[in-house]
Amino acid sequence: MQKVKIPITLHPGKAAQHRLKYDGIVPLEKLPRLRGVIQEEVGEIAVKIHCKNDEQGLVVISGNLSTHVTVTCQRCNGDLGLDLDQDFVYSPVGLDAESDDLPESYDEVALDENGEIDVFELIEDELILAVPLVPTHNEASCSYTAEPASFGVLKAEDDKPNPFDILKQLKKDS
Ligand SMILES: [Zn+2]
Repeated sequence: MQKVKIPITLHPGKAAQHRLKYDGIVPLEKLPRLRGVIQEEVGEIAVKIHCKNDEQGLVVISGNLSTHVTVTCQRCNGDLGLDLDQDFVYSPVGLDAESDDLPESYDEVALDENGEIDVFELIEDELILAVPLVPTHNEASCSYTAEPASFGVLKAEDDKPNPFDILKQLKKDS
């Protein structure tokens, strides 16, 4: 399919009626909140969007987002590359459907004041959620080495009372 421009907003009813499909790119520059959690300043998100009405007549905006980003490993502070690949299925609420009516497989998306879906915001939210809150390499590829000064494994031991301290305390009390 030819690459097209991804619309910034979509009118869900019209988009579904016309069964609009998009296969394109959103530049990272357009997603400032996502840029706040990754290292890249420039880049591209491959975006596929497919609009339709389901058997119940609900508007369904589904698709896939994929990109590669770099974050900082929270264990070794090194660069950590992440392949983000997110499928999504949204249905707008506040149009005909209330959120209670939606099948569980649909995520709800709110409409803006013009009755449209903010597509870029939706893309940005999906990708931010796809980045782990505390990203780390897996054990094998992390350059972190356990040093005595570090916390983590050692912290658990610190939490246990030292038996000698207890003894001292007992002596003091008696
Ligand atoms: Zn690491």
